[in-house]
Amino acid sequence: MRSIAVIGGGAAGAAVFGELLRVRPEGRVHWISGCESPGRGVAYSTRDESHLLNVRASGMGVFADDDGKFTDFARERFPETQGSDFLSRYLFGDFIQAQVADEIRSARISGYPFVVSSSSAVRMTASPDSGYRVILDDGSDLHADAAILAPGVPVPQPLACVGEESLNSGGYCVDPWRLAEWDIHPAPRRIMVLGTGLTAVDMLLSVALRWPQAEILAVSRHGRFPVTHPRLPADPYPHREQLNQALLSCDRVADMFRLFRHHLKESGADPASVVESMRPVNVPLWQKLSTRERVRFLRHLRRLWDPVRHRMPPASAWQLRELEEQGRLKVMAARIERVQGKTPLLVTLRPPGNTGPAKIEADLLVQATGLNLSVARSRNPLLLQLLEDGLIDADPLGLGYRATADFRVLDRNGEAQDKLYAIGPLLVGNFWECIAMPELRVTARQIAEALAKPH
Ligand SMILES: Cc1cc2nc3c(=O)[nH]c(=O)nc-3n(C[C@H](O)[C@H](O)[C@H](O)COP(=O)(O)OP(=O)(O)OC[C@H]3O[C@@H](n4cnc5c(N)ncnc54)[C@H](O)[C@@H]3O)c2cc1C
Repeated sequence: MRSIAVIGGGAAGAAVFGELLRVRPEGRVHWISGCESPGRGVAYSTRDESHLLNVRASGMGVFADDDGKFTDFARERFPETQGSDFLSRYLFGDFIQAQVADEIRSARISGYPFVVSSSSAVRMTASPDSGYRVILDDGSDLHADAAILAPGVPVPQPLACVGEESLNSGGYCVDPWRLAEWDIHPAPRRIMVLGTGLTAVDMLLSVALRWPQAEILAVSRHGRFPVTHPRLPADPYPHREQLNQALLSCDRVADMFRLFRHHLKESGADPASVVESMRPVNVPLWQKLSTRERVRFLRHLRRLWDPVRHRMPPASAWQLRELEEQGRLKVMAARIERVQGKTPLLVTLRPPGNTGPAKIEADLLVQATGLNLSVARSRNPLLLQLLEDGLIDADPLGLGYRATADFRVLDRNGEAQDKLYAIGPLLVGNFWECIAMPELRVTARQIAEALAKPH
């Protein structure tokens, strides 16, 4: 019997697996989830109630035609929920699991074959005839005529400036999503969070709650938190059609930025609403850029783009402000030069300008400096083996691996593989926008439909 393997048990894997159960391609679907509670992944496993979605309830869904269903789901538990609310991420994880469970139920009733496994794929090789042999960590293997890679992002690697002694001290948390399991005695008196993006915001709220006596310092090069979403959705930028058309005629980021600034100046519009209006063209704009232009964007504009594009919910901003007003939280702009020693760790920071370095002690450091998108720096055995065997090819800028516009993975020779697809953050080098649920749900549907076509 023909079979399809979905590898990865996060939200992206759940979306593809669920869509496959809906479109029911010929054969059996295997969901190799690598976890006991599939569907949540890193983003929607957090039990911390202060970790909120950064997309309004009405914009969240797991399947392409889910519009409004998450709001209805939340209303069953919290009747006062509005579509414009920013709800808890754990609740969204519940929704994903409920949606997938519905599809599993109906596949079972109609006798459509599928398997859900908590094992991980550790190796995958191309079969001599066609398809792939997938080897699992429980020692079993299976033949897949087609496979979809949905492994999420590799776990973060420590910053190069952190000494071995500090890494082994028990006071340096490299993977912020494991902080909840972090055991540190005595309770830390000074905590430093490295980064001021969305992950850092979540970490600051978590540490403030868990260690109420601790002083907290957030450090990043620019020392700025993400822009805050307005409480209610803002009106769309009125000149978006003109702006987007004009942007699509540019090939250089400097020209795009000039246009953007011109629109801001002429219209007096809020930068966030202009950035929001660009979302439909972000993928084609990124794809127009040469590698050199992409480097320019990453080097010069990304620090301006990210805080406006990836905004935080009003409740998170309000809590941060409270902490600052109480004097518990300080934010500093500085480059992290060195982390040495243990209990306490000694951090050397270099603020901008000609001021000398600042040396600050901290009992706990939490690294929240962004996603690790480098396949080569991954510890995932499957990704490392695929890279070594040339079945995947790293993006030249270290932004995941390469794929075609229809999500088929490119091998080392730049050849599109007929039946190996990918979904999720490791496609960022190809699409730029491919991380959030609004994009993931559409991708999942497209992959499932492609696999359901008669072959
Ligand atoms: C903290 C955070 C908050 C976010 N908040 C939002 C939000 O509010 N709104 C929004 O739209 N988007 C949000 N996103 C973005 C988006 O939802 C995530 O990018 C998305 O959930 C990614 O899912 P994933 O399945 O690709 O990866 P992951 O969640 O990382 O899941 C990957 C899974 O695959 C498993 N796996 C890895 N390798 C293997 C293997 N070899 N075999 C089997 N299994 C394997 C892993 O164990 C893991 O369970 C957020 C992302 C993060 C990280």
